[in-house]
Amino acid sequence: MVSRVIPVETFDLVIFGGTGDLARRKILPGLFRRFCSGQMPKEARIIGAARSEMDDAGFRELVRDAIHEFDSKRPDDCPELNGFLECLAYVAVDAKGDGGWNELSALMREGTVRAFYLSVAPSLFGDIAERLHTRGLALRDSRIVVEKPFGRDLASARALNETLALHFHEDQIYRIDHYLGKETVQNLMAVRFGNMLFEPLWNSQYIDHIQITVAETVGVGGRGAYYDKSGAMRDMVQNHLMQLLCLIAMEPPSRFEPDSVRDEKLKVIRALEPVDYHHIVRGQYDKTDTQPGYREHAENPRSHTESYIAMKCHISNWRWAGTPFYMRTGKRLRARASEIAIVFKDTPHSIFDEDAGRHRNTLVIHLQPKEGMELGVTIKEPGPGGMRLIDVPLDMTFQEALGPDVEDVPDAYERLIMDVIRGNQTLFMRGDEVEAAWAWTDPIIEGWEARKEVPKLYDSGSSGPEDALMLMHRDGRKWREIK
Ligand code: NAD
Repeated sequence: MVSRVIPVETFDLVIFGGTGDLARRKILPGLFRRFCSGQMPKEARIIGAARSEMDDAGFRELVRDAIHEFDSKRPDDCPELNGFLECLAYVAVDAKGDGGWNELSALMREGTVRAFYLSVAPSLFGDIAERLHTRGLALRDSRIVVEKPFGRDLASARALNETLALHFHEDQIYRIDHYLGKETVQNLMAVRFGNMLFEPLWNSQYIDHIQITVAETVGVGGRGAYYDKSGAMRDMVQNHLMQLLCLIAMEPPSRFEPDSVRDEKLKVIRALEPVDYHHIVRGQYDKTDTQPGYREHAENPRSHTESYIAMKCHISNWRWAGTPFYMRTGKRLRARASEIAIVFKDTPHSIFDEDAGRHRNTLVIHLQPKEGMELGVTIKEPGPGGMRLIDVPLDMTFQEALGPDVEDVPDAYERLIMDVIRGNQTLFMRGDEVEAAWAWTDPIIEGWEARKEVPKLYDSGSSGPEDALMLMHRDGRKWREIK
């Protein structure tokens, strides 16, 4: 059973970079799915704005092809497609010059929600924001969406915030982190704050530790040149993993509304302790007989950029003192799996014999490939043979809970774009959050650079460097298997 779809009001959405990879893979197919579900009004207009010269018909062809390629769930002759394509228009715009801006301005309608999605390189954010403002395209209630990466350190993130603030108010800026748009991530908040069951146990008295894992099987491939300037810390930890950590660790906001939620997340980031470098393991995937290693992709045979990172963090506050948060992420690992595991403590005293076995409750939130939750509960193994304990998962996979309609659960981009149109910033990062995250990340990266630290090599298809296993073993704990 899927909840009813509430249509959003009509809008003009301009996608700068509308011909680019992200627009073709995620944004446009996502909008098409919202159109098919009846959430996007037929009067809405999506205007592609990019460098290539092309007319509306050319853009519609490009979008038709993108939908065929990236929205495999629908047949090629799906009847809604033509209706969706009619909502599209295109203007060739030069982000750094004058070309195309008058034409774009002429297309914007009065009295309609205006949103500008900057799916372009961050170096163009300032130029576009300035032109939107000075040419009168952006009104006081217009929205601007910016993609990651939001800076590469505190100084650049601050500069970007200052540039955007020259032309837009904070309540108009939507910094996207698509992890926050995932169904399960929001469900994490529903589970924590919609039930009496978990919140009383959600602290260091009952929780032994938390593991956050984002594992990928792919390497850096064609993105080698970009990735080499970034690495796992900037590309994944500073944004996606920290956002997940915030949602687990934050205090209950007084209301589920943008600033209440974001205030609480900010407090978590500010309470993160600096990380001892002995508590961080960096890795780089090695070459195999058949596949190139990280350094071949990076085109730099001596690159010290990490494609893997594991770390132990502490949050200095009453709720979490003494409960470590272990985070790891990497490329070319054994399986594609993202999950958060909340591992509860042992019972204070076991009334059963040693050979009954001891078990710990674990709440696992699966983000991908399948979204869902699983709670490991200890029960008696059925049958004769006395009291033997086993763990049984209470499984809340969406597929099972929602049945075949699960296909209609919007993916992260779809949901977030609809939130932009509704003017709801709850699932977007605020400027001070991003800056606080960089303020915590910068000294870690500077430390590696000062020590000229070389990442440990790990085998492709493994679960990461040996030292990452030791990070947990030293504490008498172990990572959950990546499978
Ligand atoms: P891309 O290189 O495929 O596309 C860039 C787009 O920008 C093109 O449409 C191009 O025409 C347009 N453009 C470039 N210069 C321009 C100019 N001077 N004036 C007007 N338009 C111009 O890039 P992409 O992969 O789609 O990424 C776009 C943004 O999204 C980047 O900031 C990237 O970091 C971010 N992002 C991308 C992905 C992804 O999966 N591709 C994921 C997360 C974030």
